[in-house]
Amino acid sequence: MEKKGWDGFEIGAMLRSFDGAIRDIATTLPEDRPYSQSNSFTASVADWRIEKPLFNKDYCIDCQFCWVYCPDMSIISRDKKMVGIDFDHCKGCGICVEVCPTNPKSLLMFPEQKEEEVALAEWPQKEKKADTVVEED
Ligand code: SF4
Ligand code: SF4
Repeated sequence: MEKKGWDGFEIGAMLRSFDGAIRDIATTLPEDRPYSQSNSFTASVADWRIEKPLFNKDYCIDCQFCWVYCPDMSIISRDKKMVGIDFDHCKGCGICVEVCPTNPKSLLMFPEQKEEEVALAEWPQKEKKADTVVEED
């Protein structure tokens, strides 16, 4: 298919999401759907990032907050379990890290070139709550 810029399309032109038929999109995993070349799923935006989120499953409670809030559908969840990040479509906004409720967080932002094993080895420890002082009358 000939690639056009955004201003090369006729007014009212339609872009096909899929090449061919898809029977049940809800039960077909994204990677198994027959996306067309004009669907944004086929375009990688990985080079937009300067920082990336990395996932530490040791602390994850599968709350799915990251999946709900990710604006790019880049959190991969299977059977309500967080399994990883789609780095072809993640733009590095950091929202998933903001909403992750665990202590320490199960997702943290790192420089794009950081190796995962090194990041996991440097993961912060659980933060202790400050002692509460109870004042007596
Ligand atoms: S950094 Fe942003 S785009 Fe990437 S997985 Fe997290 S919320 Fe989604
Ligand atoms: S927000 Fe954090 S704890 Fe919840 S599923 Fe995502 S990584 Fe796991």
